[in-house]
Amino acid sequence: MPKAFITGITGQDGQHLAEFLHSKGYDVFGMVKGQNNPRMSALLEEMPFIEPVSGDLADLPSLVAALEFVQPDEIYNLGAISFVALSFTQPELTANVTGTGVLRMLEAIRMVGGTENNPMRFYQASSSEMFGKVRETPQTEQTPFHPRSPYGCAKVFGHDITVNYRESYGLYACSGILFNHEGPRRGLEFVTRKVTNAVARISLGLQHELVMGTLDAKRDWGYAGDYVKAMWMMLQQDEPSDFVIATGETHSVRDLVVRAFSEVGIDDWERYVRYDPKFMRPAEVDLLIGDPTKAREQLGWEPEVDFPTLISMMVQHDLALESAKAERARREA
Ligand code: NDP
Ligand code: GDP
Repeated sequence: MPKAFITGITGQDGQHLAEFLHSKGYDVFGMVKGQNNPRMSALLEEMPFIEPVSGDLADLPSLVAALEFVQPDEIYNLGAISFVALSFTQPELTANVTGTGVLRMLEAIRMVGGTENNPMRFYQASSSEMFGKVRETPQTEQTPFHPRSPYGCAKVFGHDITVNYRESYGLYACSGILFNHEGPRRGLEFVTRKVTNAVARISLGLQHELVMGTLDAKRDWGYAGDYVKAMWMMLQQDEPSDFVIATGETHSVRDLVVRAFSEVGIDDWERYVRYDPKFMRPAEVDLLIGDPTKAREQLGWEPEVDFPTLISMMVQHDLALESAKAERARREA
């Protein structure tokens, strides 16, 4: 059985990828940070097939030990401080984990590495946030980077160092430049899940308003379940390369809010939405839209879930989740 090693296993993508690789017959190893990680305990209940391995992207010896122990065929580096807003308040941590963490992972591969005939293959989770103040629309693998946050800057370093190690040491190393991707497992801090969860709670009478930053920013939002397949496809090619993964459509935060409210039959959404400048960022990414032509042509990758289906899936999930929670609270009261 091939072996996959995933950092960031407890995150949205780590969970989808673990499920997907398990269905493909992989032995799945997940790197767990900390000494008693509550998210990992919860995940192991849902996916007992995952084999946990201790490690932290801020600690090179732990990465070397993890690779020596697992001897993986494929490494998926999904671990990161991944929330743009947090990267403004904890920029040094973000640079260390999201940026330098990639360098440490690459160095660990150089040290442990696998064999010449069977080198460990490496996937780096690059991001459309690297395009930031976009130089062209839509964005492709050739579009220059202009990051707008400490997160974006750290991802540019991670991306460039991955290319550099591929060119310098012949590593099989790929970066997927993934545009925003969402789903019911998305953290509540991100805008899609914040909105779908609030809309579900408002329609159930559990919450009265949704407090937001800008409604004008535009994103190319896809479904996480589709995007993790592209990660795997990149590591099955003869030669390593970098790919934009996107839907090719863009929607404003306002479109997202309108669609989520309409899913629960509320048309006068403005009654419930309030602006608070605390959700504004020091520098904003106004517009992202990716061109996934290379992925379609070379990997045969296509997104399957469109924007309306994605938002509907998330609202319906949050309605079920929040009503089950409310019911439990009523019974316990
Ligand atoms: P999440 O925020 O859901 O997950 C982040 C993961 O990183 C968690 O498992 C977290 O572990 C882990 N992590 C945090 N700090 C460290 C550390 N010091 N060492 C090891 N692991 C750590 O992110 P997603 O699943 O959404 O994204 C996966 C990757 O893809 C990230 O690198 C993200 O930046 C990137 N990306 C995501 C996009 C998206 O739209 N989702 C778009 C483009 C790129 P713990 O639970 O223990 O804190
Ligand atoms: P990002 O693209 O990685 O920054 O993903 P997010 O989901 O965090 O944010 C997407 C867009 O929504 C950004 O332009 C944010 O400024 C905007 N936005 C507006 N209000 C909010 C909010 O309350 N929370 C978050 N997370 N984003 C918001």
